Amino acid sequence: MAYLSEIAPARGVATACAAGIRRIVADNPGPMTYHGTNTYLLAGADGVSVLDPGPDDALHLAAVLREAGTVARILVSHGHSDHVGGLAAMRAATGAPVFAFDPGLSPDHVVGDGDVVAGWRVLHTPGHAADHVVLARDDGVVMTADHVMGWSSSVVSPPQGDMAAYFASLRRLLARDDRLYLPGHGPAIGDPLGHAGFLLAHRVQREAAVLAALGDGPQTPAALVDAIYAGLAAHLHPAAQRNVLAHLLKLRDEGRAVERQGGWVRG
Ligand SMILES: [Zn+2]
Repeated sequence: MAYLSEIAPARGVATACAAGIRRIVADNPGPMTYHGTNTYLLAGADGVSVLDPGPDDALHLAAVLREAGTVARILVSHGHSDHVGGLAAMRAATGAPVFAFDPGLSPDHVVGDGDVVAGWRVLHTPGHAADHVVLARDDGVVMTADHVMGWSSSVVSPPQGDMAAYFASLRRLLARDDRLYLPGHGPAIGDPLGHAGFLLAHRVQREAAVLAALGDGPQTPAALVDAIYAGLAAHLHPAAQRNVLAHLLKLRDEGRAVERQGGWVRG
């Protein structure tokens, strides 16, 4: 298994991903967003459900409105700004009701685990973010947002990000029998269980590496990143430190690591 890639997508146009599902990629490329945030148009009997407005970008909003036609509702995967920065403007432009797990986003409808909205079942998948949900359709298509992506592992940055929760949420998807994941950034994942298993194995390995690098003298997450991540590009160092901290907090809660004197030692 390996990470997936795709060429930079066309901007401002919707392309088909699966039956009744189109994607428009926002123009916010970056080290955490790949080519940009995927906004999905989910066709339904009463119009289109927009999954994740994307960043606050007037050109992206205009493209989504042009391609969507009637927007029946706005769905939110989680509250990070690359997904909901454009929520207020899209809500104002469409008057469509907003469905989100996080009451802090002031949705018209707070959705909970197991709810069904426009034919999609909501699965609460904390880990990348406490308020993260994926949407699953009966035919095995899952909108995985930033929980499972093909192009990269997910940032798990405490306190919003929680590594123990992330492991549990990955295992939740692995216990299902889905056939296609459509993530919040990057291309579709056509071997979803293989890829989710690869991501879980990667985390288990990383956790073992963090544990192995701990000794009796306190070490900071930054020092642990230097010890564990070979050849990491400098611009990815801060995110790696957040991931290592998330592993350390999980290990602490399991009694396997202890924070002491500004660093971490074996528990
Ligand atoms: Zn994102």
